[in-house]
Amino acid sequence: MDRDQLKRWLDDGLSLERFATIVDRDPSTVGYWCRRYGLVPNGRAKPKARGKPDRTELERLIGRRKRLLVDEAGGGGALCSYDRCVAALQFHHVDPDTKAFGIAYRGATRSLAAARAEAAKCVLVCSNCHAEVEVGVASLPSQSDAMGALSMPVDRPGPG
Ligand SMILES: [Zn+2]
Repeated sequence: MDRDQLKRWLDDGLSLERFATIVDRDPSTVGYWCRRYGLVPNGRAKPKARGKPDRTELERLIGRRKRLLVDEAGGGGALCSYDRCVAALQFHHVDPDTKAFGIAYRGATRSLAAARAEAAKCVLVCSNCHAEVEVGVASLPSQSDAMGALSMPVDRPGPG
């Protein structure tokens, strides 16, 4: 196979498959000659690492997914109503025993339904409150409070 011709075709933007048809060869044969001549074939981009989205793509996905889950969880921290930055909001698993996976990262690679089910087991808190909850300085509103209004004073129905 002629190198100059091969190069001209490549410069014209022909794909391996296309000129394999023209020269009536197997695309892998054409690929072989390209490599042999040190030419870069068109139409066959370097394969990306399989299955894994690249990092920025993954981060975008995580951001979108989290934004959605945060909105669905009320849009702000359950304790202090912080809502300035989604990145500083975290899903705290109310009962760690029910934790199937962490939402912030692995949530992005699961189905939305699975991530939602996981978020339903959580209370949305800002990272400060989360830290306080973890060390016991702050305590979470009970599940029913979290479902209802933000911080209604608790009315104890007394006798009479
Ligand atoms: Zn907070």
